Amino acid sequence: MDRQQEFVLRTIEERDVRFVRLWFTDVVGSLKSVALAPAEVEGAFAEGLGFDGSSIEGLSRISESDMLLRPDPSTFQILPWRGEVEPTSRMFCDILTPDGDASPADPRHVLKRQLNLAADLGFTCYTHPEVEFYLLKSDELGANGKPRPVDQGGYFDHVPGGVGQDFRRQAVTMLEDVGISVEFSHHENGPGQNEIDLRYADALTTADNLMTFRTVVKEVALQQGIYATFMPKPFSEHPGSGMHTHFSLFEGDSNAFFEAGQEYQLSTTARQFIAGILRHAPEMTAVTNQFVNSYKRMWGGGEAPSHVSWGHNNRSALVRVPLYKPNKGQSARIEYRGIDSACNPYLAYAVVLGAGLKGIQEGYELGPAAEDDVWSLTTSERRALGHNPLPGSLHDAMRAMENSEFMAEVLGERVFESVLRNKQDEWDAYRHDVSPFELNRYLGML
Ligand code: GLU
Ligand code: MG
Ligand code: MG
Repeated sequence: MDRQQEFVLRTIEERDVRFVRLWFTDVVGSLKSVALAPAEVEGAFAEGLGFDGSSIEGLSRISESDMLLRPDPSTFQILPWRGEVEPTSRMFCDILTPDGDASPADPRHVLKRQLNLAADLGFTCYTHPEVEFYLLKSDELGANGKPRPVDQGGYFDHVPGGVGQDFRRQAVTMLEDVGISVEFSHHENGPGQNEIDLRYADALTTADNLMTFRTVVKEVALQQGIYATFMPKPFSEHPGSGMHTHFSLFEGDSNAFFEAGQEYQLSTTARQFIAGILRHAPEMTAVTNQFVNSYKRMWGGGEAPSHVSWGHNNRSALVRVPLYKPNKGQSARIEYRGIDSACNPYLAYAVVLGAGLKGIQEGYELGPAAEDDVWSLTTSERRALGHNPLPGSLHDAMRAMENSEFMAEVLGERVFESVLRNKQDEWDAYRHDVSPFELNRYLGML
């Protein structure tokens, strides 16, 4: 047993922990949890905990359903929201095959593979997500058939006596209690829309943190009698919820994206990384924006990207290079604005990082930055400038992914197939459905 495992066992004993939850995710990023009695933890470290993988979306086929969970002791955390009377704790797990090998179907493993590739090239990848979500009165729709936001505030509004404020204070406190550092929190543009930005961490920690984040946000909302949703676009007339993420690569202690004196202080490595992301963006959209509803957000407005472009301080761009602060070379980074808040963070980060690394490995050239507001250009102006559209629907995104060798390579055949299968099922269900829009529009008219 290693030192981290010993530390976990000791803490469980000292804190009188009653349950140890083992956490992992399925292919769409739903959190899965199994509660373990403290006495079973040592065995789970040594041999893994068996479970039926065929009952988890995208994990394994019926004929090879036996899988193992191996808890990662570095992720051990006491969970504060169940009270201290009988403390509950959690650890994230790696999924193993019965032979003890990493399962190729495990989203966490898919991200680890890209991080290993980055390490082989000499890089550590840091990420910093800005998570947007809506706070609603409940998950039930109002009389007008729409969700009911908790307030009518807008960007950075301080709503006196607002539930949003209480919510953010409690959510940030609870996040800090589980070891997640928060940089900013504020009201976003839409009514009831909020944003919480996490401090940068390595990409695997960030992805784990995001899974915890979603649970914390939902728990705090429930405690306050409201409902939090990460649905990409709950209102047609208000902005959607993005999960812009800042990426940087470090070589040892130095930021590989920074080069003094270059355009926007960007190194060649950073330019190639951006070029990789732009080249592969359409292929990876089915993963970064995985639901039918995701495409209602990416429709040219609400500060969500709809075309492939990069820019400096340009909020219509897909990749933005944030304003450079003098003497802050270490904070050089790029912001990918495509991802939405309902993604599987392990897979989304794996594909964005994979695309950036591909750009570096293949030495892709980066075209000129977009100075203009990409939304206000005409179609032919955009074409002339090379701002190709991102997929406009889940269907288009699946088609772009299907033919992508890059996506098959980054996700591995197993996850590549299960994402496509899962998305096809969703698309088929959507195609079938005759929506209120169609009934309102056509029934009386045709
Ligand atoms: N809500 C916007 C989106 O969906 C982003 C707004 C912002 O720039 O923070 O991407
Ligand atoms: Mg925002
Ligand atoms: Mg942003």
